[in-house]
Amino acid sequence: MIQFPRRPCPPGGAEKHKLGGASKGIMTHIIKKSGNNHITSTAPSDRGGPNHRQDGGPLAREASGGVDDRAEPVDTSPGPLTSPSLPPGGLTGPEVNINPKVELTARQAKADYVWTRTYRNGKPVFRVPTKRVISPKSAFLHKKLCDGPTFTLGLSCFFSCLFCYVFSVLCRNSAVLRIMKETGLTFDQIAIERDDPLPVLRSHLLNQKGRRKFNDPGDHRVIYASPLVDVAANLPTVRQTIGACRLILETTGWQIRLLSKSALLKTVAEALADYKDRVIYGLSTGTFDDKLAMSFELHTSSPTARLRTLHWLQDNGYRTYGMICPILRQVDYAAFAAEAVSKIRMDRCEHVWAEVINVRGKSLVKTCAGLRAAGFDKEADMVEAVSGPKHKSAWEGYARQSLLALSRVVPPEKLRFLQYVQEGHLEWWRRQEPLGAVLLGASVFGKKKRSRKAAVNKEASLTSLGR
Ligand code: SF4
Repeated sequence: MIQFPRRPCPPGGAEKHKLGGASKGIMTHIIKKSGNNHITSTAPSDRGGPNHRQDGGPLAREASGGVDDRAEPVDTSPGPLTSPSLPPGGLTGPEVNINPKVELTARQAKADYVWTRTYRNGKPVFRVPTKRVISPKSAFLHKKLCDGPTFTLGLSCFFSCLFCYVFSVLCRNSAVLRIMKETGLTFDQIAIERDDPLPVLRSHLLNQKGRRKFNDPGDHRVIYASPLVDVAANLPTVRQTIGACRLILETTGWQIRLLSKSALLKTVAEALADYKDRVIYGLSTGTFDDKLAMSFELHTSSPTARLRTLHWLQDNGYRTYGMICPILRQVDYAAFAAEAVSKIRMDRCEHVWAEVINVRGKSLVKTCAGLRAAGFDKEADMVEAVSGPKHKSAWEGYARQSLLALSRVVPPEKLRFLQYVQEGHLEWWRRQEPLGAVLLGASVFGKKKRSRKAAVNKEASLTSLGR
């Protein structure tokens, strides 16, 4: 058990950018774009020692369920909570210097955000106004992870997986871009939460008289969380996830599918134990060697800890599914598949999803860099050998071998192997659908022409699995 040290709140609390917003009664420091003030949000003298932590004041406490998590013991019993690369306590991060003089587009200048002066999982936490929490029609339907709806309580994750491609999905989001421009930080250096999301979620589920909007007794759709962030990365996030799930469970007949790389998913499950039949839990485990996984899945729970949570869920009567993702290139695919199904206890999982590394943005380059930095040169060489336009056929072979090996040990009714099909290979992949291949991408659904406005607001159709 780790006891976080108590630290006094810094003066000023959260810093809010742009007037208005939903954070009523919060002590904010308002920065006007037209002003000359260059705001340094975190003065070096504020930062304290290695376990320094800044509190977002009332807003941060409200968002974390009214509880100051600094004083609470963190249950790490399922195993080590974070990767060795995280500083002790995970409470420090890059210094935040907000420069209000940077050039913004008109849309970015209108985007509100709050710098909470809080660090979690080694990242500074920003908050953006909540316009909506549920996306009613998500492309996650095609991945068979849900029946259409998804929900997310954040935009940028507290974890930092080097293959994560969420930024490639949010790269036109005005608030995200404004925070990045004004702080000079990269997407993976910041965490972005939604401000006070539960009232917005409530208004999506209930009408003004407090009656259910989704009142069909036969409506047992599966809603998935989260397309953008980990749902259990730290205790405040766990509390928010519990609150959102409970609201959905109490006001609809839906089922919820949660996916995480955190052993703290156990805490979510314990809090929702009265809904065991309606929540399905998944721990993403594509690599089983702790050191290898943590060279590119930064700040997450180790695979050992994730599996311990998965087994605990299975032993205590919770519904679970497997998520073998992302699969690295293997020397022996049959051995990997056998190990994977044994480690996740495939027979106790309702379904098993699997996927090779998704190619988006710089996901492969960054993954290789992480592997090399941790001394996994052989593994990096193997990924590089299937990367880039010159190695398309090698990439195809890697994906096919992964599918075929898994299809020999996972029954077709359970396997859901996600594959973005390259042009020219659709016919082969169509033939694998009876084995459990789930085909995705433009060659399957056709290229959609998206207007600029639709692209900016494309959150409703986010397709990132990112795990
Ligand atoms: S892959 Fe998932 S857990 Fe990892 S950083 Fe991205 S959203 Fe977070």
